[in-house]
Amino acid sequence: MQRTLAIIKPDAVQRRLIGKIISRLEEKGLEIIALKMTTISEDMARENYSVHEGKEYFDKLVKFMASGPVVILVLRGKNAIEVTRRLMGSTSGHEADAGTIRGDYAMSGRFNLIHGSDSVETAEREISLFFENETLLEHEMSDLRWVYDMPGENLF
Ligand code: ATP
Ligand code: MG
Repeated sequence: MQRTLAIIKPDAVQRRLIGKIISRLEEKGLEIIALKMTTISEDMARENYSVHEGKEYFDKLVKFMASGPVVILVLRGKNAIEVTRRLMGSTSGHEADAGTIRGDYAMSGRFNLIHGSDSVETAEREISLFFENETLLEHEMSDLRWVYDMPGENLF
């Protein structure tokens, strides 16, 4: 099982979309193994988006991410990184496919509601930036054999 980090961004919190966004992640079958609501500092935002340093939108992105409360989650599941990115939709809200989080609720390229890690290395780095390893739940949901049709678990 793979892990990924998601951040429900300040625009989504202000627009009262936390519940809708978490529902989509949860209903897909991803397990939430850590969750907190907090305001991140500009330093943390800069660190999280360090690969974008030098881009013309970088400073505004950092200010936006530190502008108000966010919800940070660690999600676990098969191909969790790719699955989360597909649920999010493409970066620009007005271009994202209908049916995705951004496609259904966002119009902006910057205020696009949710962040998701984009590779295994990034995911592990971002998770350790926001959570101590021992605070990540090891608990497994009891429905996993129904979510995944696990070999050896089902009798048919
Ligand atoms: P995220 O990393 O937040 O999951 P993403 O991977 O879809 O989004 P990136 O290219 O990594 O997109 O950009 C990171 C974030 O920077 C975007 O989500 C958006 O908030 C902001 N951003 C990206 N491109 C632009 C741009 N041209 N103008 C303004 N903001 C931008
Ligand atoms: Mg990105």
